Amino acid sequence: PGSQLPYDTSKKTIVILGSGWGATSLLKTIDTEEYNVVVISPKNYFLFTPLLPSVAVGTLSPKAILQPTRYIARHKARAVTVIEAEAKEVDPFNKTVTFEDETEIKGKVSHTTIPYDYLVYAVGAEVQTFGIPGVQEKACFMKELNDAEVMQRRFKDCIESAAFPGQDDAEIDRLLHIVVVGGGPTGIEVSGEIHDFLEDDLKAWYPELAGRIRISLVEALPSVLPMFSKQLIEYTESTFKESKIDIWTKTMVKEVKDKSVILQMPDKSIKEVPCGMVVWAGGNKGRKITQDLMGKFPTLQTNKRGLTVDDHLRLAGADSIFAIGDCTSTSYAPTAQVASQQGAYLARVFAQMAKKEGLEAKLSELQKTETVAVDTTEKTGVQSEIENTKKMIANVKIRPFHYSHQGSLAYVGSDKAIADLPFANGNIATAGVATFLFWRSAYLSTLFSLRNRTLVANDWLITKIFGRDLSRD
Ligand code: FAD
Ligand code: NAD
Repeated sequence: PGSQLPYDTSKKTIVILGSGWGATSLLKTIDTEEYNVVVISPKNYFLFTPLLPSVAVGTLSPKAILQPTRYIARHKARAVTVIEAEAKEVDPFNKTVTFEDETEIKGKVSHTTIPYDYLVYAVGAEVQTFGIPGVQEKACFMKELNDAEVMQRRFKDCIESAAFPGQDDAEIDRLLHIVVVGGGPTGIEVSGEIHDFLEDDLKAWYPELAGRIRISLVEALPSVLPMFSKQLIEYTESTFKESKIDIWTKTMVKEVKDKSVILQMPDKSIKEVPCGMVVWAGGNKGRKITQDLMGKFPTLQTNKRGLTVDDHLRLAGADSIFAIGDCTSTSYAPTAQVASQQGAYLARVFAQMAKKEGLEAKLSELQKTETVAVDTTEKTGVQSEIENTKKMIANVKIRPFHYSHQGSLAYVGSDKAIADLPFANGNIATAGVATFLFWRSAYLSTLFSLRNRTLVANDWLITKIFGRDLSRD
């Protein structure tokens, strides 16, 4: 009764958890003729994370970087079931997933368990706060769409509050001090985008205040962007200097308070710095459901950074679970590039597995025919076909995952980007306005649909002509 999952009982069922980079790349590539495919994710869309900081300052509208998962599912050869729900538990022994509708409106049924033949575990990661007091409650993040919207609202609120009549100088300076924590690519890109908003728009609309807006980037390590080459780190530092963004390295945030951050300075002294807003970009940590899954294999899943998988992306300990992307701990960085290549790889693996199973079924039929064949010519014919099928089975190779690095790119503000691109046997490091145009075109072409490309290009044009919106909802 009701909405049954469109199972074809003759086919195996793949349940995909997540609708992010890894899951979406798999869904795009997989041949649904061969399997029942079910996607379960609390978000019924794919979020194009590289452009999330642009949404946070209103350069792009949220819709431009979202792609509904049902749009992708709709274009598959056979129906894919998309379920908006959060997976709560994976039972790798009975091969089931339990999930729940956690949204505001729920029907009579909002919690259920379904079986899988194969599970693709691609739930990503959450933000690492290290349990530092005040971070979870008081800082903004830059991970989900809602984070970008919250940041934008708070930033505009800080400016309007600073403009309130009678505000004293110290309070104006506090409200207009934005602290970004984390000198990884997320922190750098957010700082660059806030700076652009300031230069391109706020200077014109709040001439008396714009000059007082300060952006400080705090990083615990000795340098920002450790994954980029030395000259690009230096380029970013000098661009930030020109943009008047302060970089405080070897400085650690110890607490986030309502109106300040507590910093441990390089000399280990403690300093309280007043600020209007803190944006936290401190890295990734495994989700609770991932930790629970690891707990089911206490001797094999011991890496705190995430799930251990083999070179075919199979979860160590569970034969029918594949894990990809940020929820895993591999030698690769937790990036969209890695997750999407892993998703596309799994689609090929499933195709090969289906091919092999088809041939094995054919072989078993041929072997049955051989035993009942009475005519010698018929028997010889069947035997030769059996040999051929065996050879074909032996030829179905499932190769290990191989990552091909296409380079690292990051936007640093002021229409400048940095890029480390693999070239021949080395690396080319480029930076500047041309790299920014490359950054834009690279992301435009990576966007999954023509609809999104059009929306993003249109928003870039509108921002160029009319500037960013100042209204606060
Ligand atoms: P995600 O893309 O995070 O997807 C996880 C999915 O699982 C989501 O759909 C989520 O809703 C869903 N989910 C969560 N919990 C559950 C649950 N319990 N049950 C079911 N589903 C669940 N990488 C790059 O290579 N280049 C970049 O330029 C870049 N820019 C970035 C900018 C920002 C601001 C951020 C935050 C990240 C950026 N990254 C970039 C990193 C990149 O986004 C991640 O590495 C990538 O998203 C990982 O893909 P994933 O599929 O593992 O996880
Ligand atoms: P990250 O892990 O790369 O950086 C987090 C930084 O925060 C670290 O350098 C850490 O030292 C610092 N930090 C943590 N706690 C701190 C504290 N208390 N005080 C001061 N500093 C603190 O995280 P990210 O930037 O969110 O990136 C996550 C992943 O996503 C990375 O793999 C990254 O490559 C990828 N990503 C890539 C791009 C891009 O390619 N343009 C953009 C964003 C993210």
